[in-house]
Amino acid sequence: MLSNNVASYIIYNKQDKGAIQMIGDMQKWTPNVAGIIEHAKEIHPQTEIISRLVSGEIHRSNYEKVCIRSRKLASALEKDGIKKGDVVATLALNTYRHLEMYYGISGMGAVTHTLNFRLHPEQAVYIINHAEDKIIFVELPFVPILEGLQDKLNNIQKYIVLCEEHEMPETSLNNAISYEEYIKDGDAEYKWPILDDDAACALCYTSGTTGNPKGVLYSHKSNVLHAQAALTAMTIQPDDSILMVVPLFHVLAWGIPYFGPMNGLKLVMPGMQMEGEPLYELIDQEDVSLAFGVPTIWMGLLAYCRENNKILSSVKNTIIGGSALSLATLQEFDEVHDVNVIHAWGMTEMSPLGTTNVPTPEMQNMSKEEKYAIQLKQGRPIYGVELKVVDDSGNELPKDGKSQGHLMVRGPWILQKYFKADKDAVDADGWFDTGDISVLDEDGYMTIKDRAKDVIKSGGEWISSIDLENAAFGHPEVAEACVVGIPHPKWDERPMLFIVTNSGEPVEKKSIIDFLSDKVAKWWLPDEIVFLKELPHGATGKLQKFELREEYSNHYMEK
Ligand code: ADP
Repeated sequence: MLSNNVASYIIYNKQDKGAIQMIGDMQKWTPNVAGIIEHAKEIHPQTEIISRLVSGEIHRSNYEKVCIRSRKLASALEKDGIKKGDVVATLALNTYRHLEMYYGISGMGAVTHTLNFRLHPEQAVYIINHAEDKIIFVELPFVPILEGLQDKLNNIQKYIVLCEEHEMPETSLNNAISYEEYIKDGDAEYKWPILDDDAACALCYTSGTTGNPKGVLYSHKSNVLHAQAALTAMTIQPDDSILMVVPLFHVLAWGIPYFGPMNGLKLVMPGMQMEGEPLYELIDQEDVSLAFGVPTIWMGLLAYCRENNKILSSVKNTIIGGSALSLATLQEFDEVHDVNVIHAWGMTEMSPLGTTNVPTPEMQNMSKEEKYAIQLKQGRPIYGVELKVVDDSGNELPKDGKSQGHLMVRGPWILQKYFKADKDAVDADGWFDTGDISVLDEDGYMTIKDRAKDVIKSGGEWISSIDLENAAFGHPEVAEACVVGIPHPKWDERPMLFIVTNSGEPVEKKSIIDFLSDKVAKWWLPDEIVFLKELPHGATGKLQKFELREEYSNHYMEK
């Protein structure tokens, strides 16, 4: 029999039909992300936050200032009638003010909803109304976008323009005020509220290539857990200076705005200027040691360095994700710049980090070729994220490096359901289907073969459009490549390769085919190569393959 003392610890667990459980004695943890910026102020007050402003000028702040200004913003919002659970939007660039909004809005209990300025206007209207945004903080250059949309926005009470009082533009936006005026009389001693368990913190919408965009509502707890896990799953050092090219408006900038201050890291933000030259300057001037970004941004930076004989001498590591890393990019970072590349994978529904590919001790003894083959994989799951690969009927496939199927994920920073949806987005056991087709191997590495919607089915076999694109990208004349499956009367689908060359002019198709022929199986070789001046990209910079698929859908059928 249990003593009275022990009995008081026991709860009856209905799900386990009578099983008993003992509860721990530790404190109840209901985190508020504002605790992160308070920690940074306390421990790393003078660590710098560098931003390139819209004007091009470099602005220097630090964790102490950002924390105090976040408190002022939170109190200004409260004074303005914003309540816990209200949704407040940002249409902003990577600067210190955006960081302050992350903390000021979420920290007072409202929800930070980040908007992407590249959204199609119709999608922007849908998202702002669906989220029921009450206020929009808007960067100066985007004021005209909102002026054009404001008649269709149902709930917006105020527009706060991210500028000084004297920089306020003439605008037709209702109740427009400058950010600096808005926070001027805010309370620098503001005390952050204690929030409910699982309180909502931030909201991001997926790009919605089919149907309407869907919202993912992150909690304070999921963001804190994700940030702590991210810190352990990348080679981050306390003295790193981070270049944050990944936008604060896309999937919470991969958690950097939370784990940066957690660890007192210097943050360097490029604002509007993400081309090769200004990025190089910023890296050089601010001694950037760790850079986060998507492959297309790095392609611009590498091209600038190549053409101007520049070396990224301060950079030690770069974390690349969002789309697949190519061998050519990896090689150039490694062999020309001595920069270690860490491939990472994730998605909006996962806060976003799922896997990272950090160097292992074994890799030190490998040949470059062997090492590159591992680095090109999307990596191994971070503790907290579970992965499995299933066939079309949902049966789990072996982790053998060969069996390819639907990648399913589960974990504390992975969504349960989309914002305002009636039903869960996960199966009965909590697994979320990522929409990616992948292979898992014996060592725990995951390799993405394709998006399920992009995989090419030719003669009953699968061709990976990603592998083919990466192979083509290695050709010295190829600046960008995209492979799409086009319906075919005999083979079901055949790959078509779209290329943007360095010069913008077509090159000999034979030279491309010859280049590919020892890199991929013969039946993978594209039947058709089309040279374009540019490829269609979506609001988050990803290739919009459906546009090309639609345009060329009858190409083989008509032949
Ligand atoms: P979206 O809003 O388009 O869903 P996400 O950033 O959430 O934007 O996109 C997630 C998807 O991006 C993943 O499911 C995967 O297909 C792709 N992706 C992300 N990182 C990688 C990577 N390292 N390699 C290949 N694909 C990637």
